[in-house]
Amino acid sequence: MSVTSQAPIGLMSAMHEELALLLQALPDEQRVTVAGRDFWQGHWHGRPVVAVLSRIGKVAAATTATALIERFGVDRMVFTGVAGGIGPGVRVGDVVLADSLVQHDMDASPLFPRHEVPLYGRSRFATDTALSAGLARAAQAVLAQVGTHVGAAAVAEFGLHTPRLHTGLIASGDRFVSTTAECRALQRALPEALAVEMEGAAVAQVCADYDVPFAALRTISDRADDDAHADFSRFIGEVASRYSLAMLSAWLTNAG
Ligand code: SAH
Repeated sequence: MSVTSQAPIGLMSAMHEELALLLQALPDEQRVTVAGRDFWQGHWHGRPVVAVLSRIGKVAAATTATALIERFGVDRMVFTGVAGGIGPGVRVGDVVLADSLVQHDMDASPLFPRHEVPLYGRSRFATDTALSAGLARAAQAVLAQVGTHVGAAAVAEFGLHTPRLHTGLIASGDRFVSTTAECRALQRALPEALAVEMEGAAVAQVCADYDVPFAALRTISDRADDDAHADFSRFIGEVASRYSLAMLSAWLTNAG
């Protein structure tokens, strides 16, 4: 009897706290170590998945994305994690879905325009429309009932009363943006950016190279300002993993 095997979906986060509950939810996962990273192969909601922690920063994320494609044959990739909110009205506890990503620290000027990735002829890498639409529906459903996912204490502590989903540009770079001055500079350089993090644009570039559909969903843990470090640390411990678990679970339950 021949069994048609489905290609797995790649699920990536940077840090343990962002993926911890998802790893607990996989019923049959097996660990495979490649390039010093643990890749967890298993099934979730009946679908083959490979979950992995990329570690922090663009190079670590690019290595991980390449391994997911080359070694594990994923045919889609979703990044979930936290980010600093830099767009107007993008608050802690909101979720930003990337429609495109840019490396805010890429600058080969004057040879190439600022932010353009040399020899690619562009600075922005778009996410997959269909994948993102499914994730948007899942995120909306979770945010509409956020209290059932994170509990009353976290809702009160972080003021998660009416969290919103925003869709737009995410900026990535190898810096934890944690001063108000640096945040302002980033807002001036990329006025349409909604959030800043350290991995997404690198994964988007790898996925573009391999023609693998990619989506990125980030929960806002801080405002990338002078309070960012304290806000980030509390949020990552208490809320981040619950958001990721709930949104990915809702998505995989309904994904086509
Ligand atoms: N482990 C360290 C550093 C974490 S770096 C610590 O605990 O302090 C921050 C991580 O969260 C990165 O993976 C990045 O993608 C995301 N992130 C959240 N807020 C960010 C911000 N203000 N600037 C840049 N990255 C941010």
